[in-house]
Amino acid sequence: MKVLKFGGTSVGSAQRMKDVAKLICDGENKIVVLSAMSGTTNTLIEISDYLYKKNPDGANETINNLEKKYKMIVNELFSKEEYKAKTLAVHKVIFNDIRALTLDLFTSFEEKVVLAQGELLSTVMVNNYLNEIGVKSVLLPALDFMKTDKNAEPDYVFIKEHLTATLNANKDAELYITQGFICKNAYNEIDNLQRGGSDYTASIIGAAILASEVQIWTDIDGMHNNDPRFVEKTAPVRVLNFDEAAELAYFGAKILHPTCILPTKLANIPVRLLNTMEPQAPGTLICGESEPKKIKAVAAKDGITAIKIKSGRMLLAYGFLRKVFEIFESYQTSIDMVTTSEVGVSLTIDNTNHLKDILDDLKKFGTVSVDKDMVIVCVTGDLEWTNIGFEAKVVDALKEIPVRMIAYGGSNHNISFLIKAEDKKRSLQALSTHLFN
Ligand code: ADP
Ligand code: ASP
Ligand code: MG
Repeated sequence: MKVLKFGGTSVGSAQRMKDVAKLICDGENKIVVLSAMSGTTNTLIEISDYLYKKNPDGANETINNLEKKYKMIVNELFSKEEYKAKTLAVHKVIFNDIRALTLDLFTSFEEKVVLAQGELLSTVMVNNYLNEIGVKSVLLPALDFMKTDKNAEPDYVFIKEHLTATLNANKDAELYITQGFICKNAYNEIDNLQRGGSDYTASIIGAAILASEVQIWTDIDGMHNNDPRFVEKTAPVRVLNFDEAAELAYFGAKILHPTCILPTKLANIPVRLLNTMEPQAPGTLICGESEPKKIKAVAAKDGITAIKIKSGRMLLAYGFLRKVFEIFESYQTSIDMVTTSEVGVSLTIDNTNHLKDILDDLKKFGTVSVDKDMVIVCVTGDLEWTNIGFEAKVVDALKEIPVRMIAYGGSNHNISFLIKAEDKKRSLQALSTHLFN
């Protein structure tokens, strides 16, 4: 069975939902993962912000406007009164549940409940619409099977057991519709898989049921060779291997959630990135195969902080790097890039929640300096070191840009540069011009 995920723009209006219905009704059984309609999760964050700031009036006005918008969409989507009424009734409960949260103390627990409502709103609409046009589809509540463990990693044992049970209980259905993004955590609270997490839902489900393929349907014809939001004349990459796709996703290619490739890679399930607006376009196939000697694509990850620790004692000292890394581990802060020299080490982080404590601890080992507002630019492809001249070509593209760090050799697929945020756009453009045009 295939797993298909449709993102926010793909379900962004009544017409788009009808288009999705046409795409998924081809007689084949499939699991369909849906995001919230585009803009809804942002609106739910806005509502939460009002509640954190103890402004229930602001929250209620935003809730009322959102509800109005959904009423209009329901009116446009359905032609039979019965299905319209059924959908509006579920939406009413959802909006009243959000309103109930405006009355009490608002914490991150309540925020996660609010954020979960977007996918609940969209899936009930699409599922009821499919029923209205005579398709045997059922709604599988993601909160019944999508679970994370104490490390916020997917709990595959639970997911497999509960997903299989609910699929078996609905054997005669043609289509299974479920919510992306939302889950329960190890404490059985409503939680989510981080922004953009519906892609991750699809790949976790794919791995859990050993799907034949996972398809991520979005608003562009596959992974482009550079970020189309910053660079003109980007082009789709037709084939990526799992490692290349994972690097691009982790280093900022927004088309994929940062960690969504891992489950499909481990289960060797091909992933296809496809365009809902242009369903015949070939898109991108992500699989186990590599295309030798090709530089594939560039991505950029924002919000990076670089830390340098200089120590006379690093020279010939064993254990220095371990002590440095242990500090980051103790604050559950992961490191993205590392470079070393005789006298010190530079590394980067994107989570600065514990920056002050980390810096205080690092100062015991040397002189510490920090650069904020940095960006990691990552070039992926077959960058095996025996391919002579590839890294030189990439470095040459950035000859006009001040580069703070370069990391190469950590994998066969990646060379990364740390630059200032203000140089991001021209770096990406220079790489496109040199490498692809
Ligand atoms: P969805 O709502 O369907 O999940 P997203 O907005 O999360 O869609 O992802 C699709 C967007 O990712 C595209 O519209 C594009 O602007 C952006 N994007 C960033 N980098 C890339 C890239 N390398 N290739 C394709 N799209 C990219
Ligand atoms: N609705 C969620 C978000 O906007 C999840 C997703 O779209 O993948 O982040
Ligand atoms: Mg997305």
